[in-house]
Amino acid sequence: MLNTETKLFAVLGYPVKHSFSPQMQNAWFEKEKLNCAYMPFEVEPKNLKKTVEALKLLGFSGINVTIPHKTEAMKYLDYADKASKLIGSINTIALKNGKLYGYNTDYSGFSSDLISKNVKVKGNTALVFGAGGGARAVIYALKSGGAKHIYISNRTHKNAVKLAKEFKIEALSVSKISDILPKCKLIVNASACGMKKTDALPFEINNIGQDAVIYDLIYNKPTPFVKAAKENKIRFFTGEGMLIKQGAHGFKIWTGICPDTKSALKLLNKFMR
Ligand code: NAP
Repeated sequence: MLNTETKLFAVLGYPVKHSFSPQMQNAWFEKEKLNCAYMPFEVEPKNLKKTVEALKLLGFSGINVTIPHKTEAMKYLDYADKASKLIGSINTIALKNGKLYGYNTDYSGFSSDLISKNVKVKGNTALVFGAGGGARAVIYALKSGGAKHIYISNRTHKNAVKLAKEFKIEALSVSKISDILPKCKLIVNASACGMKKTDALPFEINNIGQDAVIYDLIYNKPTPFVKAAKENKIRFFTGEGMLIKQGAHGFKIWTGICPDTKSALKLLNKFMR
């Protein structure tokens, strides 16, 4: 029951219809018996600043921002944590005493998903394919996790070079990937390759070690990375865990409670059917 005590939360995206966050966050509020409500708002980029100001004025307690607002939203914060400053984007805002605090829980969601799946990062070599916002969070997570060496490759090479300089990792053209694959223990698809049915695997993965792991950030499509992992009998994971854990970390920032991620996975599986 909504009343004058209800704490309000929102996700801002453009588009936002695909977002699982309203179902996930509202289910957690209900489970924890919190008088809170979470709503999706489709916000055009030109209206982001006004929308954030309006939510602040209306006394909202928390905001998620999703594509394409994750970088722009940083400009409106009073405070950004260290990780989000280095990654260059946020996905979670907490509003307290009229101030906006920004966090990036994509990176922490990815890190804790790897830990929960016993994927070792420390001392290992990894390849990140992609050079967008997801890749930035993944690279920060791998660096924080103590990866020995990180390669980045991308469809548009200059974008990989830019990130490589920024994060002090090594950029590699797609045609060179097969040379370094045998030493990679973790291959992350942080690109949108696989979102379209026609997307093909950008590089061969048949010379990958049998102890390697493939992690695809995409969770709602049978991507070429997942198909190749199955064909080559390589351990693989898709992005559901990251998605749920980024939401769980946001929930913890807002409420102080670690929510039930298992029930969220069941809900996500229903949502995707
Ligand atoms: P983004 O900032 O728009 O970056 C897109 C990246 O994908 C760029 O590197 C782009 O390369 C590359 N790309 C796009 N289409 C491609 C194709 N057909 N073949 C090869 N590369 C392609 O997007 P993002 O935020 O990084 O997200 C990337 C993917 O990760 C999306 O599918 C998103 O849904 C997923 N994601 C999942 C989670 C999760 O919680 N599971 C979190 C974040 C992102 P160019 O530089 O050449 O354009």
